[in-house]
Amino acid sequence: MSLWKEYLHPHTVQDAITALTNAPHPACVIAGGTDLLLDLQQGNHPPVHTLVDLTGIPELRVLEIRDQDLVIGAGLTHNQVVDSALVQQHGQALVEACGLIGGPQVRNAATLGGNVAHALPAADGSIGLLALNARAEIASPAGRRQVPLLELFLAPGKSALNSKREILVNFSIPLRKAHQASAFCRIMRAQGIALPILNLALWLERTGDQVSAVQVAVGPAGPIPFRALNTEAFLIGKKFSAETIAGAQVTLLAEAAFRTSPARATQEYRRHLAGVLLKNSLTSAWERAE
Ligand SMILES: Cc1cc2nc3c(=O)[nH]c(=O)nc-3n(C[C@H](O)[C@H](O)[C@H](O)COP(=O)(O)OP(=O)(O)OC[C@H]3O[C@@H](n4cnc5c(N)ncnc54)[C@H](O)[C@@H]3O)c2cc1C
Repeated sequence: MSLWKEYLHPHTVQDAITALTNAPHPACVIAGGTDLLLDLQQGNHPPVHTLVDLTGIPELRVLEIRDQDLVIGAGLTHNQVVDSALVQQHGQALVEACGLIGGPQVRNAATLGGNVAHALPAADGSIGLLALNARAEIASPAGRRQVPLLELFLAPGKSALNSKREILVNFSIPLRKAHQASAFCRIMRAQGIALPILNLALWLERTGDQVSAVQVAVGPAGPIPFRALNTEAFLIGKKFSAETIAGAQVTLLAEAAFRTSPARATQEYRRHLAGVLLKNSLTSAWERAE
């Protein structure tokens, strides 16, 4: 039995929005299909009549510098992100996150936009983008708007996008300046193929021997991708030292809501890992920012 009745293949964002709003409903967009097709097959997504395929839209594969930002198209596959010299330069944490997603076949088809739109709290691409302070550009029949990435997430698997009329177009991250760097770490089950036990991305700026700015994202540590604001506040202005790392670990454990999930890990194990991943990513980013 077919999972859909109509399959549309627009070539511009405007045509995709028109198709999405005018096509027989229920309709939704599809990119790599690595999440959506499984969800439709397994009954975890309501049945659809029309699929609007985004893979033929060049604007969604843009990768360029605009003003003070690097703009990363939502339709880029994880492998395209990994292979980009621009993302390697300005968003190391995102390169490391996308490079660990699934296996080669998944990374060749799955897109960054699909990873974010699926809105899972530990999606590797979302966590990488969150630490880089990304903004998302959204297209709708009313035009374009930009929102901070965090505003896209409402609950596990539920994004703030109106799937009947809105499309993620791109993500903007600030260009990397001197003495700034980022890093991403995660722990997977040995035979796991989808989503980590825990991941953590971190961006920082160093001034002399101090952390002068920092952004930390962790997943899963709550219902949506988690930005560790208290840990960031603790670190800012502190000298980079073993004592500072220990204090940051305590602060992270106090603010993040780690839980036990039967298929992946216990709460206690996640709490242990959080400290290790924080230390490792802080140390990597600090060394890279020299
Ligand atoms: C074997 C396997 C291993 C995986 N491993 C990992 C992993 O290690 N880490 C990880 O984070 N994920 C993993 N995933 C999940 C998945 O591959 C990613 O979330 C992927 O990035 C989704 O992108 P997609 O293009 O395939 O999205 P699709 O499946 O096409 O779409 C997913 C959802 O996003 C919506 N959507 C897609 N593009 C847009 C857009 N531009 N604007 C608005 N809505 C959009 C769709 O309507 C749908 O609701 C794995 C999946 C598989 C099958």
